[in-house]
Formats: sequence, structure tokens, C-alpha cells
Amino acid sequence: MNKVYKALIIGSGAAAYSVADWLFKEGIKDIAIITENRLSGTSRNTGSDKQTYYKLSMDGYTPDSPYKMALDMFSGGSCDGEKMYIEAVNSQKCFLRLCDYGVNFPTDSFGGFPGYKTDHDDTLRATSVGPLTSKVMTEKLENIVLEHNKTPLLDNRLVIEILKNENRAVGVKVLNLISNQIETIFAENIISATGAPACIYEDSVYPVSQHGMTGVLIDAGVRMCNFTQWQYGMASVDFRWNVSGSFMQVIPRFVSIDEKGEEREFLSDYFTDIHEAYSFVFLKGYQWPFSFERASLSSQIDLAVHAEMQKNRKVFLDYRKNPKDFNFEKLCDEAKKYIIDTDCLVDTPIKRLEKLNSKAIDVYMRQNINLYKDMLKIAVCAQHNNGGVYTDCNFETDIEGLYVIGEAAGSFGLSRPGGSALNDTQVGGLVVSKHIKNKATTFTDIAKDIADYSLNFITDETVDYSHFKKKMSEVASFKRDYEACISLLDEVNAVLEKYPKRHKSLREYYSDKDMLISMKALLEAIIAENPDTGSRGGAIFIKNGKIVEENTHYRDFLSVTGNGKIEYIKVSPVPFGQKPFEYYLNKTDESKF
Ligand SMILES: Cc1cc2nc3c(=O)[nH]c(=O)nc-3n(C[C@H](O)[C@H](O)[C@H](O)COP(=O)(O)OP(=O)(O)OC[C@H]3O[C@@H](n4cnc5c(N)ncnc54)[C@H](O)[C@@H]3O)c2cc1C
Repeated sequence: MNKVYKALIIGSGAAAYSVADWLFKEGIKDIAIITENRLSGTSRNTGSDKQTYYKLSMDGYTPDSPYKMALDMFSGGSCDGEKMYIEAVNSQKCFLRLCDYGVNFPTDSFGGFPGYKTDHDDTLRATSVGPLTSKVMTEKLENIVLEHNKTPLLDNRLVIEILKNENRAVGVKVLNLISNQIETIFAENIISATGAPACIYEDSVYPVSQHGMTGVLIDAGVRMCNFTQWQYGMASVDFRWNVSGSFMQVIPRFVSIDEKGEEREFLSDYFTDIHEAYSFVFLKGYQWPFSFERASLSSQIDLAVHAEMQKNRKVFLDYRKNPKDFNFEKLCDEAKKYIIDTDCLVDTPIKRLEKLNSKAIDVYMRQNINLYKDMLKIAVCAQHNNGGVYTDCNFETDIEGLYVIGEAAGSFGLSRPGGSALNDTQVGGLVVSKHIKNKATTFTDIAKDIADYSLNFITDETVDYSHFKKKMSEVASFKRDYEACISLLDEVNAVLEKYPKRHKSLREYYSDKDMLISMKALLEAIIAENPDTGSRGGAIFIKNGKIVEENTHYRDFLSVTGNGKIEYIKVSPVPFGQKPFEYYLNKTDESKF
């Protein structure tokens, strides 16, 4: 008789530990966590200038409500009103749990939580514990889950297949990365908290250790929601870090170098007024992600960087000297005022950075990159997938008993307030735990033949599919070319149709299969969706050599894709109004949010 857990959680990031702890609090203790590597993933290995957590305002002075917060998240377009309300109304509870566990969000002397404004949001809902908010969250949650709750964690296990009985998930097939053997684990409920399919792109600011498991989920039969909606922006690539905020506000030189080492400043090739370009560089400080709506404004800088790279030139930021013909007086008023107000009107970008945010220089110094001497290699990188696996409001997929939470799930639309991804990692787990607690069990064990694929596997050091990542960055990231996406899809399909059982290792065999399936799904989604919706959100779409403008009609719909088909599902509005209090007083079923 197989051991069957009540719930199996895949992943060891902020979302995985969140759900593990919420389940424990609900009294569901027959659970286990499984992960390819306890220390990998985005939450634990990433950060930014001031990594943001977004929740209901709790500064003590700002009037706010979950309804207002949900409307703000909903206003980005193509996201579900009910889901945004769930994200908002549960945000305080999740935030306060993190505080209880020792995540030291700043407080004022009365105990309120002061906040700041963040991308796409003008309220004071954002907070932070510094550059590594998600790492601190993950470590504090992990401590509770492993040390206090004593939830077992099975490390070094790569999930390679979701086992199903008809349309019900019943377990997972796993590659044990130590023994190289295939194992099976059964559970009534499977929760994938496996993060974004970061493996898709070469130009990426995700940590190298984050691959994702989206291909495995697609193979199991889930559909994707808003999968085309990603956030891309400029980041350094040797050490992966967003060059947002002060890195842009000090207006460095933009330099490209060709294969022969010929170096030039290139912004003047793309702008008739070079000081308009420098003003846009400044604005990139707080308009960091590429946005189609700003494609003729500050996002032109991203397009210029991409165009240089398409010419086979490497692109760098140089803080040592002012850009060509730089004249402070010719900058836009906003830039001039900011530079004067922050007392940064000094000779060079590096001196301005020293005055504005010297810690930004230290971040690179710790990685042996000396901005006083070295130029910083950059690209326009994938940073976040707003879309992902399609789930209902309980975060359950089309497959019964299979839940997806955190960045792997498609919770957001065209844009989202900065910091809402971290709130989402916490709320998803809360909702799933309540749903699992309150639903009737429908589990039946399976007696399925579990073939050991390792028997037929051939080790071959020459197998390499990494060139597909480069192509994805070139034609299917923030600048998408319809015809090039079709040819790339043909190439990916050709490999997948005969996916040979040979690779450098079994791990790479399964990881690359997952990557290729994810690429196929994204290319199919772009090809199916973008001709209807046009350019939108974080991407510009080109067909027959021409930019296709956005068709805003589609902002009221989720784009749900699978098997090359697309379905537009009307978004639900943000719910408003409640029944008389006594209705809730007498109600026992908590799962209906
Ligand atoms: C540079 C950068 C800056 C960011 N800044 C912010 C910010 O300021 N505010 C904000 O809200 N968000 C931000 N984000 C986004 C946010 O950090 C992520 O959305 C979030 O951390 C994702 O958490 P997660 O738990 O869903 O996934 P992850 O933390 O990525 O965890 C995924 C886990 O799944 C495991 N796993 C994956 N595949 C398998 C498999 N096949 N088998 C077993 N285990 C597997 C991995 O090992 C890992 O443990 C930023 C992201 C980046 C890259």
C-alpha cells in the first residue's frame, strides 16, 4: 500500500513555505515538501534596490480598503476582479503573520507600518525590509515550517511528471538527483509552488537556479492564463541585478562594443534630441519595466538597447564619465529638480551615484564589479511572469486536486503594482489551505505502471538546446516578431516531436524537456493572442514588419491558452457589498470567499 499524503507541496520558496504553514495552522499536518534544491528559486536568491512587499495601507493615516486595493490591482487590465479582491482582503492577515515570524518591516513609534509609493500605484501600500525582502521572508517562514512545525522536506528531488487518475492528480514522479533513480510520491492534493518558467530566456534577471516546472504542469494538461504577460527591464547580466532607481537617475553613458572591440555611445543614433534621451534615462529610474504605453517615451531606451544587441554588439552602462554632450540645463524639469533636491549636481554619474545611493555601488563591489573602473554589461531581461497556470479563485487548476500558487500561477494581467507578487505568494497558500480543509475527499489510489525511463537513457555530452533561449530573447520577449515566432515554434516542435532519450545527464534531459514545452506554450500563446490583442502590457508586437497597436477591448478578458487554442474569458468585476452580519455569524463554510 502506498503512503498517501494529505498534501504534497512542490518548491521551497516564499509560496511553498507559506502554504505549508497555512495548512499546518488548519490542522492538516500529514504533508510534505519536495524540492529540487532547498536553496534554489527566485524568492531566496533575488533582490533589488528596495525589494517591495505590497499590502493594504497600515500606516495609520492613509484611508484604504480591500475594495480600493483590489480596484487598483484590477485596473491594470485582463485580470480577474474576484481574485484581486481575495489578494487584497487577505493581505493584512498574511503580512501580520510574516511580522510575527520575525520579518522586520519598519514601524513608526506608535506601531503603524509606514509605506511608500510603488510602480502602478500611488498609495502608500508598499513596504520593504531592504534589498532582500523575499529572502528574509523565505528564511523566516522556513524556520517555522521545518523547525517548529517539523514538516518533512524531501530535498534534491526534481518533479518530472504529475500522476493522474483520469482528471484527478494523485501524485508525482520524481528524479532523485542524488541516486539518479525515479521515485513516486502519492498525495490527495498537490500544490505546485514552483515559480516562473525562468528557463525560457537567455536575457534574464531571475537567479540562475530558478528553472521552473511549467512544462511538467502543461504536460499534465493545465491551461495557461495571460502567459504572454511578462515584465522585462534592463538588468546587469554578469551579476543579475535590476538597474532601476538610482542606477538610471544618475544618467550613465550607454555604450555598445562590437566583436572587434570598437566602442561607441549609441543613444544619439535613436534620438534626434539627445537630451530627450538623457531625460528618458532618468525617468527609467521609476519607469523601470518596458511598457508598450511608454514605447515612444522612456521605454525607447529599452528598444535602443535591444536594437544594438540585434547588431551583435554588447551593451554596457558606464558611470565613469558623463554621456556625450551632457548638459544638465537641457534635461527635463523633473530630472533637474530631482538632481538639485537630492544635492547630486556633481561631475560624473559615479559621483552622483555615490551621493544618491552609495549602497548601490557596494552591491556590485561585493561581486567584484567596480563601477569606478568597470563598465556594466546589461540587457533587457525577463523579470516576472504576470501570467502563468490558469486556476480558479481557490488556485485549483483544471485538474482536480492540483493547485498552483505563487509566480507559477497566472494571477495578474497587463501590469501589477510593484510588490504584489510577494503578497500573492502568501495569499495563495492561505486560500488553498482553507479549500483543502473544507472540501470532501475524492481521492482514489492508483495502481499505475511507473516506467523507469533511466533504463533507456543514453549519456551524450554533445546535446545542447541552449540556443533556443537566445532566440526566445531575440524574437519572443518584450519585442515580439510574429513571423519569427512561427519559425521558432516550428523548430521547437521539431525537437519535441522526437525528443531523443539522450542528453548530458538525466537531470538535463528532464529540465530541457520542461523548458521546450514551456517555450512551445509561450510561442503558441503569442501567435494565438497577439494578432487579436496587438501590442500591450510589457511587450510590443510586430507583424509583417509593422507594429500592431493595442486592441483595448481585450483588457476585459483573460487569455486562456492550451494546445495551440485560445479562449477569451470575461473577467469578473471586483465584488462589492456584503450581506447582513448575521449571515456570516451563522455560516460555517469558510472556503467561500
Ligand atoms: C530581480 C527580481 C526582483 C524582484 N523584485 C520584486 C519585488 O520588489 N516585489 C515583488 O513583489 N516581487 C518581486 N520579484 C518577484 C518575486 O521575487 C517572485 O515572484 C517570487 O519570489 C516567486 O516566489 P515563488 O515561491 O512563487 O517561486 P520561487 O521562489 O521561484 O520558488 C520556486 C521553487 O520551486 C522549486 N522547483 C521548481 N521546479 C521544480 C521541480 N521540477 N521539482 C522540484 N522543485 C522545483 C525551486 O527549486 C524553488 O524552490 C522580483 C523578481 C526578480 C527576479
